[in-house]
Amino acid sequence: MRKKLHIAVVGYGVAGQASCLLLGAAGHALTVFEQAPSPGPVGAGFLLQPTGLSVLTRLGLHEQALASGQRIERLYGCNLAGRAVMDMRYGDHAPGCFGLGMTRGALFSLLDSAWTGRDAIRSGTRIESLSDDGRHLIDGEGRQHGPFDLIVAADGAHSVLRRQPGVIRREALYPWGAMWCLLPAAAWPHLDTLHQRYAGTREMIGLLPVGRRDGSDERWLTFFYSLPGEQVDTFDDAALKRLRQRLGELWPEALPLLEGIHSASQLHRARYRDVVLHRTSWNNVVFIGDAAHAMSPQLGQGVNMALLDVQVLADALAAHDDLATALDAYRRQRRTHVGIYQRLSRFLTPLFQSDHDALAGLRDRFFGPVGRLPIARGQMLRILTGTKRTWW
Ligand SMILES: Cc1cc2nc3c(=O)[nH]c(=O)nc-3n(C[C@H](O)[C@H](O)[C@H](O)COP(=O)(O)OP(=O)(O)OC[C@H]3O[C@@H](n4cnc5c(N)ncnc54)[C@H](O)[C@@H]3O)c2cc1C
Repeated sequence: MRKKLHIAVVGYGVAGQASCLLLGAAGHALTVFEQAPSPGPVGAGFLLQPTGLSVLTRLGLHEQALASGQRIERLYGCNLAGRAVMDMRYGDHAPGCFGLGMTRGALFSLLDSAWTGRDAIRSGTRIESLSDDGRHLIDGEGRQHGPFDLIVAADGAHSVLRRQPGVIRREALYPWGAMWCLLPAAAWPHLDTLHQRYAGTREMIGLLPVGRRDGSDERWLTFFYSLPGEQVDTFDDAALKRLRQRLGELWPEALPLLEGIHSASQLHRARYRDVVLHRTSWNNVVFIGDAAHAMSPQLGQGVNMALLDVQVLADALAAHDDLATALDAYRRQRRTHVGIYQRLSRFLTPLFQSDHDALAGLRDRFFGPVGRLPIARGQMLRILTGTKRTWW
């Protein structure tokens, strides 16, 4: 696109931050609206897949990400009887392949410090709606901003911007959620492995090594404990006591890690949505990241999907002079990949987080043996690494 656009980015999470870098580098003028008075990371840590890492490489941030993150070589999950349900090694997908555990703070700082246009962030500005022509934004105090040539809606899983006529096909709140936090890794011995422990389908605990934070040498883990949604919403100090007790019963080796956690306020709450859109753009608004396709984090793809969205959008805008054609190219290129992970997340999440107890028996009996069959194993590795782009 020869014309330089005036673009509004709503939301300064991963999708918004990456948009600033790639669209700013293409010479477009940006204004960013972020509801948080002081933009920063929300949550604990996450797993970057080779797909997301490739976008960081394009941004010139790969080495810095490796320096603060933790290489993950293996996903290992077992049930209470010690039976392996998941055991996948990135190296079996392709030689040298790995995932990267990172703290949210480390990725936030990496993307934030790489962008020189930070003066364009209007923090503490929550956007509530759009004008009818889709070119102006209206904030919580009724102020109108714009007009903009393009609005990038990167306002996350609970997006208000996608609530436009004919845009949402499905938006459901999952009945399950999770409590999660960062814990010092101390002497945790499995620093190259995402470990999960499953007690039926009602309890799932995860420990993901996520490397360093704040430039110090100390290593950290993301701790994850799944719960029914209403228990997440009401999680308090008594619930923390119960969680500690259950951890001692289900995974005693992990219990000492929780030593520094004394109050429920030290954990973050997460509720997830399952969102499918009829269309990825509306007038001059384009939806990216969780605003376009929020899903349960079971497959660990959301950050990676957000980074891929931005890369494809930036390339589509660079390749086409007409905005409508560029937005259509973005839609076509992301449709199949996103659709596959939306369906897989919806199908697989109840096997790990639900009250369908019978599913746990099926999962525990079949996942291990099926995962050892070469064809099925190849497919499972593709799903894990985020590289499954076609069904067959
Ligand atoms: C427990 C859990 C574990 C996860 N683990 C992984 C993992 O291992 N790997 C992975 O890839 N993904 C993971 N995810 C998913 C990942 O966190 C999301 O997919 C990703 O953060 C989406 O990025 P985003 O920029 O689209 O949205 P967000 O990160 O949610 O950012 C949205 C931004 O918009 C701002 N905002 C929202 N509304 C407005 C508004 N109206 N006006 C102005 N600003 C607004 C918010 O304050 C926020 O800054 C996990 C999610 C959860 C909950």
